[in-house]
Amino acid sequence: MDTEYPNYGRIDGAVVIIGFGSIGQGTLPLIERHFEYDAHDIHVIEPSNQHHTFLRQRGVKHHPVALTPDNYREILGPLFEKGGFCVNLSVDTSSLDIMRFCREIGVLYIDTVVEPWAGFYFDMDGDPAERTNYALRETVRAEKRANPGGPTAVSCCGANPGMVSWFVKQALLDIARDTGRDATAPTSREGWAALMQDVGVHGIHIAERDTQQSSRAKPIGTFVNTWSVEGFLSEGFQPAELGWGTKETWQPEGARGHDSGCQAAIFLPTVGAATKVRTWCPTPGPQYGFLVTHNEAISIADYFTVGEGARPEYRPTCHYAYHPADDAVLSFHETFGSGKVQDKLHIMDETEITGGVDELGVLLYGHDKNAYWYGSRLSIEETRDLAPYQNATGLQVTSAVLAGMVWALENPEAGIVETEEMDHARCLEVQMPYLGPVEGHYTDWTPVTQRLPHETDLDRDTPWSFRNTLVR
Ligand code: NAD
Repeated sequence: MDTEYPNYGRIDGAVVIIGFGSIGQGTLPLIERHFEYDAHDIHVIEPSNQHHTFLRQRGVKHHPVALTPDNYREILGPLFEKGGFCVNLSVDTSSLDIMRFCREIGVLYIDTVVEPWAGFYFDMDGDPAERTNYALRETVRAEKRANPGGPTAVSCCGANPGMVSWFVKQALLDIARDTGRDATAPTSREGWAALMQDVGVHGIHIAERDTQQSSRAKPIGTFVNTWSVEGFLSEGFQPAELGWGTKETWQPEGARGHDSGCQAAIFLPTVGAATKVRTWCPTPGPQYGFLVTHNEAISIADYFTVGEGARPEYRPTCHYAYHPADDAVLSFHETFGSGKVQDKLHIMDETEITGGVDELGVLLYGHDKNAYWYGSRLSIEETRDLAPYQNATGLQVTSAVLAGMVWALENPEAGIVETEEMDHARCLEVQMPYLGPVEGHYTDWTPVTQRLPHETDLDRDTPWSFRNTLVR
């Protein structure tokens, strides 16, 4: 604990971080900074030995092992003899199984994605519906329904999914205020959904532009990104997927919905990293983004639904529109062109990045004031000042993990929750000091403005139609 920073309380029992990649490395110093815990009872489970000495020097016990369906209970059980907090930041481990086990033994749990055991993402033989985030999310929702209440497990609490759901609520209150409505925060899910319907939101882009760049040009044969390359490849090869709103009048050919569960989403016959949409961020203005599937596209659409099922009274469209770092765009270009994943995977860290900003926000569109982007514009320079061992993308994620952990400690018997189900104001209060400028911007832009002369197949009567957003 560092007395310069807010103390968010004591974690009784063990602190166990699973996975020590870019997000684990950035989260550890925030845990050290903001919580009290038994200094002899902090652990990292990470198969790679790359950071073994670093961890030992900090007094963190390193367990150089990969969790599998066969060993996770044996490994985690003894560590949590006295209870504690499980912070799952690895790829290839089942969020559902580990969350279920933690709740069984009375341990708090958080993750940043509904991650499956290894193999799930690249099993291309079955029905693509089985490889969607819809399917993954439904497993956690089913667990919540079957076992309501109990020890808190926070699902999908990174930047996105995660923080952006808190941004959606804040943005909605800002628009309500600016259009002369009551801007008091609703106290129920139904209240939030009714407010979004009343404001007239057609949909929401999770609109991101990452301009971080390295001092080294991307070498041929290396996939470069600002966060997990494995994670980005996995989601990039899943079907493109989006929360499907009630204001849409056109559906892309081959799009499919779901017969069971919340039915708030559809998926497309194309993979996310090869599916482009038009969106808007403050710095670039209009831009292309990848329609990569993400949990929040579904959870936000689901949470802000009035009514239920595939044809509710109101639901916003919601999807990711991600312009990753230029090197990551080039990397996927190379992957698709060569027909194979690069031999080398590289995450740009804060020591090699020469400049850039991760501009990550939510664009609420189709209401009386057209569109409103609200988000974080965190630069690499600010990031270096705020916290060690991470770039701007990382800090937006790790500070959301911190906020989620604080909320879980303050609400230890809340059961399984997604970030929409948490107190957005409290979570943002914890996270704000790490986000750089957090700003709201109105724009006149719609997907039919600023189009090149050859782009004629547009629905100008419904500018915010997904028909105009999807690049066809
Ligand atoms: P990374 O690839 O840098 O690190 C993942 C780490 O997990 C690696 O060090 C790897 O060795 C370890 N690992 C692999 N298999 C394991 C196993 N079976 N048991 C224990 N550890 C194992 O990834 P990252 O950038 O640190 O991201 C971590 C996770 O966070 C990923 O699932 C990613 O999708 C997610 N993420 C979420 C957000 C968000 O905003 N919600 C943002 C970034 C990353």
